[in-house]
Amino acid sequence: MIIHMAAGATPDQTQRVIDRITRDYGLRCETIVSDTTVIGVKGIAGVIDEGRISELPGVERVIRITEKYKDASRTFHPEDTIVRVGRVAIGGDNLTVFGGPCAIESEQQALESARMSKDAGVDVLRAFPDKSRTSPYDYRGLELSRGLEIAAAMKAETGLPIISELIDLRHLDAFLNAGVDIIQIGARSAQYSPLLEELSTLDVPVVLKHGFGNDMNEWLSAAAYIMSGIDREGRSARHGNRNVILCYRGIKAFETSTRFAADISMVPLVRSKSHLPLIADPSHSSGDRKLVERVAYGFIAAGAHGIEFDIHSNPAEALCDGKQAVLGGEARRIIDNMRRIHSLLDGLGVETGSSVRVAAK
Ligand code: PEP
Ligand code: MN
Repeated sequence: MIIHMAAGATPDQTQRVIDRITRDYGLRCETIVSDTTVIGVKGIAGVIDEGRISELPGVERVIRITEKYKDASRTFHPEDTIVRVGRVAIGGDNLTVFGGPCAIESEQQALESARMSKDAGVDVLRAFPDKSRTSPYDYRGLELSRGLEIAAAMKAETGLPIISELIDLRHLDAFLNAGVDIIQIGARSAQYSPLLEELSTLDVPVVLKHGFGNDMNEWLSAAAYIMSGIDREGRSARHGNRNVILCYRGIKAFETSTRFAADISMVPLVRSKSHLPLIADPSHSSGDRKLVERVAYGFIAAGAHGIEFDIHSNPAEALCDGKQAVLGGEARRIIDNMRRIHSLLDGLGVETGSSVRVAAK
């Protein structure tokens, strides 16, 4: 449920509405103040008697939200969300580039790839000590504490914020203690609710990949698990983590010549449905470095807020996904061109961020 206050509503009137919802129904509210005030009710608002709220002074309109992914929905939160990590901003009018090696293999490989990624112009560095792999016989990373040490060294060497994939809840504290700035939830864990719920207790930014067997509703509902902090009774028991970044990476389809099928129309569609920043991954979708460049441009032209891609100092020898990794020079060219395409969109009158409203259907 969202409650639009009238243009001239006073802070006292707004507070009275919030008090009624919190005291009478035990729910929590999120208030957005721009030209007017909008109150978003967290939790399951079905218990609220709509009439008792709409009759309060200063209330203009009460709207019930029907989407199952309420907290992630643009109806609940019309403005674009911008997630900040130090000096890096993700979402809105910003273009943010995430890049680095698929996995940490050794100190030398990780640091060389990190320096290469920084020189190429990435904003957030991939530093992955742990890998979720389809087969147990594939490379899954070094012993975790060693991997985390190297991840911290990649951060210290470049001064960039780092992103690492969290597979196992038991590793969360070690990740945070090692200085991981952004937690990635991979496609294979994208609907694992205990992991998502645990992240709802923190403010650490989370990149949530699109599960490769999920539709949009399932993907955005997974985001709502992280954001809502809702318990089994529908109460907002936990504080809820609003710093969620969506990452599109394609789904399973019958075509096997590309690794996964990336439907470019998902980018503007998801942006219209959700206020969350949306990046896309041209490496894990195409699976082939010869395709990565053009796919990256396509995602940006379609309205993505950034990309995440694989950069490796020696792709031919990589233990994981070398076929889709690019070297530094190519990464630099791709990043420069993406920035050009992104600024061109403004000139074309095509929205790049929050400056132009995207109408939710
Ligand atoms: C990755 O980004 O390294 C990765 C494994 O991606 P996904 O979870 O989308 O397969
Ligand atoms: Mn990979």
